[in-house]
Amino acid sequence: MPLPDEALSIDGGCNCGAIRYRVAIPVLADRSLHPLSPAKTPVSLPFLVLDHCNDCRRATGSLLPAWLCAPINICSVSLVPASLATLASKAAARQGQSDEQHSLWTSAADVFSPTPASADHFLASFESSNERWRWFCSRCGTSIAYTAVMPEGFPDMLDIALGSVQRSQLDSHALIPERHLWWDYGIDWIRGLATEGYGSLPIHPDYRLADTVTLERSD
Ligand SMILES: [Zn+2]
Repeated sequence: MPLPDEALSIDGGCNCGAIRYRVAIPVLADRSLHPLSPAKTPVSLPFLVLDHCNDCRRATGSLLPAWLCAPINICSVSLVPASLATLASKAAARQGQSDEQHSLWTSAADVFSPTPASADHFLASFESSNERWRWFCSRCGTSIAYTAVMPEGFPDMLDIALGSVQRSQLDSHALIPERHLWWDYGIDWIRGLATEGYGSLPIHPDYRLADTVTLERSD
């Protein structure tokens, strides 16, 4: 399901609240196009993908990472200065109610940079391969984003780990991944899980194996 045509703002951040981001997506007519999409059916940016590549699986620890791939010029960030951090309670941070002081919103391109303007924050990077960076919170460990020196014709991008988007927006169904990337590099049973599901597995409402959930089939 592609993003809605209307302008919308996507918010998210790390699990401890030290890193927040915002993606200000314009109306469809004002979005840039993926330079390698079919001419007859162009794909607008941002777009939402499932990613089967080995590097992203290992870097995120997720069997099937999902990304919101956005031009970095529509992204901004607000960070807790490390020098002022108080380590808010975990519960407060999860509710987005951390009372730690955040910086003003600033351009993501200034921060997701190998040579950031300021390093007084918890956003850390690792160059996982040549000119490709993994971004994470050095306080709570959340995987936040991926950046790379882009090929000719592409805008600079910020690929945001979709699981770090705030829950209310994930619930809305506007952010369902719309395509698989790097399929040829994928693991067979993970590809099966992502396309067919494993409906015969027992399903439990939480960690208690004595209780099971029966799914109602709509067909
Ligand atoms: Zn954090």
